[in-house]
Amino acid sequence: MMDAKKFFSKELLSWFHIYKRTLPWRQNRDPYRVWVSEIMLQQTRVDTVIPYYERFMARFPTVAALAAAPEEEVLKCWEGLGYYSRARNLQAGAQEVVERYGGVIPDDAEAVAGLKGIGPYTRGAVMSIAFNRAEPAVDGNVMRVLSRYFCLEDDIAKNKTRIQLEKLAVSLIPDGHAGDFNQALMELGALVCTPKSPGCLTCPVMEHCAGRLAGKELVLPIKTKAKPPREERRLAAIVEGSGSQTGKVLVRQRPESGLLARMWELPHVLDGAAGAESKPARGRKRTVRTNRPQEHTGALPEQEVLRMERLGLALAVESRLLARPLAHWMEAEHVFSHIIWKLDIFRCEFGFVLEEEERQRLEHSYEVTARGEMLASEAPSSYTLHRLDGEYPGTEDAGSWVYTGRASGLPDEALTAAAGIAAGTLTEVEAEELQEERQQQLPDGYRWISREDMDELAFPNVFLRILNSYWEQQL
Ligand code: SF4
Repeated sequence: MMDAKKFFSKELLSWFHIYKRTLPWRQNRDPYRVWVSEIMLQQTRVDTVIPYYERFMARFPTVAALAAAPEEEVLKCWEGLGYYSRARNLQAGAQEVVERYGGVIPDDAEAVAGLKGIGPYTRGAVMSIAFNRAEPAVDGNVMRVLSRYFCLEDDIAKNKTRIQLEKLAVSLIPDGHAGDFNQALMELGALVCTPKSPGCLTCPVMEHCAGRLAGKELVLPIKTKAKPPREERRLAAIVEGSGSQTGKVLVRQRPESGLLARMWELPHVLDGAAGAESKPARGRKRTVRTNRPQEHTGALPEQEVLRMERLGLALAVESRLLARPLAHWMEAEHVFSHIIWKLDIFRCEFGFVLEEEERQRLEHSYEVTARGEMLASEAPSSYTLHRLDGEYPGTEDAGSWVYTGRASGLPDEALTAAAGIAAGTLTEVEAEELQEERQQQLPDGYRWISREDMDELAFPNVFLRILNSYWEQQL
C-alpha cells in the first residue's frame, strides 16, 4: 500500500505541474480569491463559474468590499448561479472576517472553519491552497478518485466514509506541497477520472490504480441514492399594469428567511387541487427549463379555467391581491435539491387589494376550492368565455380565448375598472382614476417593475427566464 501511495502522490503532482488549467482563481494564492472560487464551484461547473467569478471579483475585490456591499448587490452579482444561500453566507463570512480579524483571513484552520458557510471541504481548500497547510479538501470528485485508486467500496454518501477518506487524503499530501497536491486531486477528478467515463489510458496513476486493476472503475465509487425531489405544482401570475404602470408587471420579495430568502419573484401559489398529485420525481437533472409561451386555438380547456380560478382565489387569500387570470402564458420548471417546482404562468389583469375582512370572507371558499370540490362540481358553463381580440400583443392571430368568469366566492364588486365601465357603474375617466389609485396600493413586499428595474433586483433563475421571455414578447 505504501508504494501505491507514494507513487500516487509523486505522479499526480508531476502531472498537475504539466497539465493544470489556467483558471482565474489560480492567478495567485490570495485566500479571499480561493474562498470565493471554492464557494462558487460547489455544485457548479468551472465553465459556468468563470464569468461569474470575474464579475464578482471586479465588483468586490476584497473581503472588506464584500462585507460592506448591500446584500441586494451581492445577490444580483450571483443571479443565475443558484444556491443563493452560498452568496449570503459568503458575505456573512466576510463580515465576520472584518469584525473579528480586521479584514484579514487568518492562517488558522479553526478560525477559518468558524466562518459562516465554511464546511470541512472549503476549510481544507482555503488552508491548503492559500496557506499551503496539510489539510484535506475532500469533495465528491476527490472521493471518487480515492475510491477508485484504492478500490474502496464504502458508501461515500456516509459521513463516516468521508472522514476516513479525509484521513487517507492527508496521508497522501507530499511535504510542502499541500496546495498543489489538493488541486491536483481535484483536477484529476475533473479532467481524467470523470464520473461516467474515466480516461484510464491517459491517467498518470493508472499503473497502480486498484480499482482499474480490479475492473471496477465504472462501478466505483459506491454511493446510495439521495431521496428524489418532491414535485410541486404551482400557479404563477404575470399581473400587468395599466395607465401609468403600463408595460410594468407586479413582483414581490420573498420572506426574510427560508428558500430563496429576500429574492424577487412573480406572485405564485401552490396549486391546492394538484397538491395531492405531489409525487417524487425520478431521474431529474438540476436544470431550469422554460417552455415557449403557449397559444390557445379554441375554447379554454375546463382544467385550465379551474386552475385560473384557483390562482385568483389563492392570491386573494394569501396576499390580499385581487387579480384576474386572463390566459395561460407558459410553463416552467425549477429543480431544487429537495423539490421541483412545476409552474403554470398566467397573464393577469390587476384588480385591487382587498381589505382584511374581505380576505377573511374568501378564505372558506378558497379552502374548499383548493381541494377542487367546489369548482369540480360546477359546470364549466358557469364561466363565461369571451374572445379578447387584439387586447394583448401576440394574441390577435392566435384566436385566443380568455377567461372572464367570476371565481366562486369573489366579491361582487367589479374586479377591474374595465368591468365597472361595462357594468355602467363608472365612466371611462372615473375608471382610469380608480385604477391609478388602486395600482398604488399594493400588499407589503410587492412593487411594479419595468424591464430596466430588473437590473437592480435579484431573481431566481426560473423567474428571470420567465420575465425575460415576457419582455421579449412585448417588443
Ligand atoms: S486509472 Fe482510471 S479509475 Fe484509476 S484513477 Fe485513473 S482514471 Fe481513475
